[in-house]
Amino acid sequence: MSNNIVIAIDGYSSCGKSTLAKALAQKLHFIYVDSGAMYRAVTLYFLRHHIDLHDHQQVVEALKNIHLNFHSRDYQTHITLNDEEVSEEIRQMPVSDNVSAVAALREVRYEMVKQQQRMGRSKNIVMDGRDIGTTVFPDAQLKIFMTADPKVRAERRYKELHEKNPDITLEEVFENIAHRDYQDTTREESPLMRAADAIILDNTNLTPDQQLEFALNKIKGLSEP
Ligand code: C5P
Repeated sequence: MSNNIVIAIDGYSSCGKSTLAKALAQKLHFIYVDSGAMYRAVTLYFLRHHIDLHDHQQVVEALKNIHLNFHSRDYQTHITLNDEEVSEEIRQMPVSDNVSAVAALREVRYEMVKQQQRMGRSKNIVMDGRDIGTTVFPDAQLKIFMTADPKVRAERRYKELHEKNPDITLEEVFENIAHRDYQDTTREESPLMRAADAIILDNTNLTPDQQLEFALNKIKGLSEP
């Protein structure tokens, strides 16, 4: 039996999950895994290769040709798709607009979950996503379910994206977040939902430091009798 620790962080789009997950991993010297980046990289491949999402055979074949790798430097997500660094490209709108449809496919989820479970088998990790506490690691020692006011989420995300892409509008970002939340919560395969034993963290009015403190207190609570 392995006795490594898994912290699962799930929640709506652009809630600050990765900010918290990275900060926790850094503080605790755990490995940080951004599971969304995996679905994004698969989406990038599907877009480039014009994969028809309704064609089961095409999807299965495409998945066989996709090799993802994380390179953890400085707790930022560096992901390669068939040895090409795609960390920047997967954050752009074409991928954001299509990722939830790709992530709803059973074949895609099966493959990603398998890889994610492998990563958490022997190491202490913090993983963020949508189904980490419900499906990937139902036995995670700590589960946090994050939420925040949708307008606040859109504004935070807009600020980030606008720096790199001045053409982007706040409306576009808001629409994308709302659309992804809808698709992620209503899909058939492991929809986004709070695991019964997950702690809710609403960070609408919290700073990154305050949310880190909240999570660290919960971790302290784990080791206390
Ligand atoms: O976390 P991020 O916003 O980058 O995730 C992008 C998309 O990937 C989500 O909107 C969701 O559709 C999908 N996703 C998922 N399951 C995960 C992580 C992400 O379905 N564990």
